[in-house]
Amino acid sequence: MNAATPRRTKIVATLGPASSSPEAVTALARAGMDAARLNFSHGSHDDHAERVRLVREAERVVGRPLAVIADLQGPKIRVGDLEAPLRLDRGTQITVVGQDAGRNGAVPGELPVSPAVLGEVLQPGHDVLIDDGVVRLHVESVEAGRASCAVLAGGTVTSHKGVNVPGVPVPIPSLTRKDIDDLEFALALGVDYVALSFVRSPADVRDLSDLIEHAGSTARVIAKIEKSEAIDALDEVLAETDAVMVARGDLGVEIGVAEVPLVQKRIITAALERGKPVITATQMLESMVHAPDPTRAEASDVANAILDGSSALMLAGETAVGQYPVEAVEYMDRIACAIEPSLGYRHELPQPEERATVGQAMSNAACDLAEALGVRAILVPTFSGRTASAVARLRPRRPIVALTHHAEVASHLAIEWGVTPVVIPECRDVTDLWSRSLAAARETNLVREGDLVVLTAGTAVNIPGSTNVIKVELV
Ligand code: PEP
Repeated sequence: MNAATPRRTKIVATLGPASSSPEAVTALARAGMDAARLNFSHGSHDDHAERVRLVREAERVVGRPLAVIADLQGPKIRVGDLEAPLRLDRGTQITVVGQDAGRNGAVPGELPVSPAVLGEVLQPGHDVLIDDGVVRLHVESVEAGRASCAVLAGGTVTSHKGVNVPGVPVPIPSLTRKDIDDLEFALALGVDYVALSFVRSPADVRDLSDLIEHAGSTARVIAKIEKSEAIDALDEVLAETDAVMVARGDLGVEIGVAEVPLVQKRIITAALERGKPVITATQMLESMVHAPDPTRAEASDVANAILDGSSALMLAGETAVGQYPVEAVEYMDRIACAIEPSLGYRHELPQPEERATVGQAMSNAACDLAEALGVRAILVPTFSGRTASAVARLRPRRPIVALTHHAEVASHLAIEWGVTPVVIPECRDVTDLWSRSLAAARETNLVREGDLVVLTAGTAVNIPGSTNVIKVELV
């Protein structure tokens, strides 16, 4: 990475067996990882605790905040316990039955699926997709909770494979017992974000936020958009959540792969409008699980996700189980640096029906000043990180340096587009805040003596939401 023009789009790397040694995590951070994702669908609590320790160590080595994201499995529907792999051939019939988790065994001709309530909601005409849609069943008739299905696409089904029932509302809680245990464990580890899988409504997000707050944690919520219900309630979900993820894996199974590109753009645009970070995820450099170079199509996908306005891009299998985890981060960094100079500044005057907040109007004006004067950077002393996000929303061409005395806010901002987060001591008053901000910005090497910068912050120091000043300063 070039210190004078840092990469603006952030990189999230999923940690797994391929990336869990001290050397591997530090190498990922050196290559440009900004956030580490712990996938609670896999691995033990001990594995995750060790990974958090390694990320905090890597953070010290590279000298910049890294965010840790705990990704909860959520209410995933799964194949139940099978005594042996079950071969389903196209054109044959199989009966899907709901099964309580932990109940063993399957009757020949039946496919048990957990949770048991699934047996009560399937109706003729529904599709049941297994293993990311590799196996596709079509429900023909239902009797006493037993769904008789035709096999439309065949394959071998093994125990606990994921099941999707697109468009079928399944009445199960958004957090399972496992999620609640994992959440408690992750919060005790001090994670910065909790990602919630299979969000269906804003209430799902609110319930998780309440649990986090109740636990006394400052962790923020990432709503994974992967179900059509969440797309239908996108504005309401965005209003409730701190950030979103375009979780293209399950999204592709739920709505069909062909629909994903446009929905991706819609989610990113809506998140940008609200100034909330948006992570685009899954299969970005998939072939790099086994190859040292990506395909042209993957490079284009990464580039297009950046052009769409993603705040961050996520690597999953590439860094968790792949043979070239560091190379995958390096490639993402390289593609981002090649594409970002073509990104446009998003200044938008408020529409007549909109009522911009003072913070939004100040951010607009600060970015306009920065553009007009061609300053070196925009400095944003921030209590909660919100002003930095409001500035980032406009995608200014100058680096944004966010200065905060809250270490956790600096970690949250690690996934925010274009923001270099820096921890500064708590300031006594506004004069102290200006001078400490300038001094800390100089230490980032993004600004040098004699550079012009724009600062925007509140004169009521240490009070969130009080941004009321813009200053132009010579460093
Ligand atoms: C996805 O579905 O794209 C995703 C990121 O979630 P998971 O890896 O938990 O399936």
